[in-house]
Amino acid sequence: MDDDWGPIPLSRLSHAGFCLRRAALLTNEQIWKESADTAKGRAEHERVHAQRIERRGETAKLYEFPVFSHTLGVAGKCDCIEAQTDARGCRIPALDFPARLYPVEYKHGEIRAEREYEIQLCAQAMCLEEMFQTSIPEGAIYYITSHRRYSVPFTEELRNLVKETIHKIELFRRSFSIPPAEKEAKCRACSLREHCRPGMQRSASNYCHELRREAMERDVK
Ligand code: SF4
Repeated sequence: MDDDWGPIPLSRLSHAGFCLRRAALLTNEQIWKESADTAKGRAEHERVHAQRIERRGETAKLYEFPVFSHTLGVAGKCDCIEAQTDARGCRIPALDFPARLYPVEYKHGEIRAEREYEIQLCAQAMCLEEMFQTSIPEGAIYYITSHRRYSVPFTEELRNLVKETIHKIELFRRSFSIPPAEKEAKCRACSLREHCRPGMQRSASNYCHELRREAMERDVK
């Protein structure tokens, strides 16, 4: 992994899973636009998060736990790691007992399955596995507003998707390129749509295509 650029933030994987162009705008143009949604999400995160360990009997919760992977070239934080005492578990410096680790990512809004969040969560697990030579088969995404969560199995398919996403980010990061906009339903919820102008970009490209077609028609006459 080329480390001239430093590690890729884990949250960038989630953006890339949502839209590669969005991740590239954030990375190569350092554009960020707060929307009502992102502001609400950030406020909810700030209320919930402060780095700490909560111990209760045989379990502990580690909040805002820093993680990294040299192999993947990523770094960030786990919102929460639930640690359960297990003699076959791993040793981590923050705990005085061997533990099984279960990462939980906090998101705002109502419960819904979002692949990009699953990519981010799985990348966290892969970091923990590398850091503590352990195996983590599952984690969960917790929705703060609805107080509900769903479990995410870390399948081979999801792990490969994490690696593919990192590879795509590496490519646009090295080439300073921004992938073209694909106007889709998700653009309505994107805080970068004003800057991205997906519809306009398509109109412009359609216009160029039309000019090319007319020029070719003239040439054959
Ligand atoms: S507006 Fe659409 S194409 Fe543009 S960055 Fe957002 S999601 Fe991607």
